[in-house]
Amino acid sequence: MAETPMRVEINGSLEGHGHLRDDNEHGDGRMELVTDLITNEHGFPQHEVVLAMGNTSPPITTPEQGKEYKARSRQHLGLNVDVLVAMMGSDTTTVNQILEGYDRPAEERWIDALKIFQRGVSNDEGASISSVDAILPLLEELDRREIKIPILWHAERLIDDKGKQIPILEREDYAVARDIDKVVRTCDASITIEHASSRHTVAYVRNRWREGKKIYAGIAPQYFVRTHDDLFRNARFHSHELCWPIYKDEASQMTIILAALSGEECFYFGSDIACHIDDMTRPNGVKITSHGEVCGGLSQTPATAKSLVIEAFEDAALLDTWKLNAFLSGNGMARFGRTAKAKTVYERRDWQVPEEIEWETAHGKHHVVPFLGGSTRRWQRVA
Ligand SMILES: [Zn+2]
Repeated sequence: MAETPMRVEINGSLEGHGHLRDDNEHGDGRMELVTDLITNEHGFPQHEVVLAMGNTSPPITTPEQGKEYKARSRQHLGLNVDVLVAMMGSDTTTVNQILEGYDRPAEERWIDALKIFQRGVSNDEGASISSVDAILPLLEELDRREIKIPILWHAERLIDDKGKQIPILEREDYAVARDIDKVVRTCDASITIEHASSRHTVAYVRNRWREGKKIYAGIAPQYFVRTHDDLFRNARFHSHELCWPIYKDEASQMTIILAALSGEECFYFGSDIACHIDDMTRPNGVKITSHGEVCGGLSQTPATAKSLVIEAFEDAALLDTWKLNAFLSGNGMARFGRTAKAKTVYERRDWQVPEEIEWETAHGKHHVVPFLGGSTRRWQRVA
């Protein structure tokens, strides 16, 4: 058996699903924290390409907002970082908006993708769709005009077609079977099912890919290490680890890991990096409001996310294969029409995820409880 290399080299550095949330009017420090974490991974700037989801506050719903947001993000990330911006799709999004923002040379685009989810699934401030039928005419028209904008779909449904609430573990499967599949059967849209969590989603993506359909799954490494039961371990609810879609059972967990390890083109890394401020007074920055309501609030950091991926490849004795590169960088780069330029190097060297991150901005002092805080991770960036 080949000896496990103590270093791995990755061609390019990509974050396929990031949240640079902020309050645009006042700023609240969250964007700065995430961009600081991205640009300083063990002392090295991490990502050359960052896909920023547009559900910030206010949400990105027009190409002009996308252009402004892209410029603002690059002020924080550095002008050498290629920030791709997803515009939020809603019932009123028009073809002309997509053309204005997307139908340009790649490096001059105002928007680079269209993010879609159904009302109520995530924080949207009104920028979401009421049903798949509301967005289908737009997707058909884009297909007719051969505008291949990546569609990034948070595939979950809360309510079924008969008005009944869907069991929490089945929300993704329902959305894939009813909504994604309806689009796939109607037109040729290039869809990523974001942060895939179910083994059925992995099977669905593979099957469509075999039929020649450009359907992808974004994969976030928290799904490698958590199942739904972990949220309630030691008779406590670990609200800082809650995110949507909810973690599934061990069979799905294993399937998600194997999908990442496969290196197949249809699976790429998108860690869902985000910052949720640990502050009881904020309705969305917090885990538990003063009314006892719990919000999803996983704060994934880039350094943890990358280590989790490399650890999974190490555990499977697949470190010295092309597949790690494909999953972490190559597949996502290809998905967004980018080519890797930088080389990043990781070394097997233990480090501790901080229990808490405290930082100060012009907007005050903040606390974040990072995912897996206090744990030892095995891989860190060294170049
Ligand atoms: Zn997300």
